[in-house]
Amino acid sequence: MNQEQIHPHFNQDFVCNNCQRKFYQTTAYSPTKEPVFLTETYCAECIEEEPEFCSFNEIDDKTKKAVACTNEIFDKKKQLCRSHNRQVRKRFNEFLKDESTAGNGA
Ligand SMILES: [Zn+2]
Ligand SMILES: [Zn+2]
Repeated sequence: MNQEQIHPHFNQDFVCNNCQRKFYQTTAYSPTKEPVFLTETYCAECIEEEPEFCSFNEIDDKTKKAVACTNEIFDKKKQLCRSHNRQVRKRFNEFLKDESTAGNGA
């Protein structure tokens, strides 16, 4: 028996263990295989492997600790929220600009 596996249970009334939202007649996902009594249930959104939050870590000026960004993901491929996506792109463009001006011998 593989406990790691998540089993779909169709047409369930349940509360998602992760996001605490209530669902009616929806597919519930649970590590429990038997549909008799589901102790752990998750909705489809929470079971998705893609992280739902921005992966950008900022260093806090005061604590010098990395602070995880909790904004929702805007660019799924880069796993960045809207503001960090813009920030990273701006930095990258500045980097490209520096490269090109350095090559001109100016
Ligand atoms: Zn959920
Ligand atoms: Zn972010």
